[in-house]
Amino acid sequence: MDCVFCKIINKEIPAKVVYEDDQVIAFHDANPQAPIHLLIVPKEHIASILDIDEENSEVLKDIFRVAQNIAKENNIDKKGFRLVVNTGEEGGQTVHHLHFHLLGGRFLTWPPG
Ligand code: AMP
Ligand code: ZN
Repeated sequence: MDCVFCKIINKEIPAKVVYEDDQVIAFHDANPQAPIHLLIVPKEHIASILDIDEENSEVLKDIFRVAQNIAKENNIDKKGFRLVVNTGEEGGQTVHHLHFHLLGGRFLTWPPG
């Protein structure tokens, strides 16, 4: 499958990986939008939020645990951060493998652009 995140998971292309286990991988976004911008990705290819179901949703718990740990490790747990899932064309999704952007290290404006 021609999926850039599956290729990262399969070590076919490099990434700056900060965390990995059997279910989840986290790595630096190649085009960071904040001082801390990591992507937390289930290893199973799930195309988007719309494809989460009873069978594959267990990984969401792992993703939130990884997000907590990464926020603490980067000392943004108390300052604050944002966890974002872009979905579909108007949502700004460009990679069709579910991923959570963890953004922090600066004041994040609301509403987003
Ligand atoms: P989205 O637009 O929400 O689908 O997010 C996709 C994100 O993946 C963007 O922020 C890109 O900068 C990032 N990205 C795309 N290719 C790579 C890559 N090879 N390594 C790391 N991040 C990537
Ligand atoms: Zn994939």
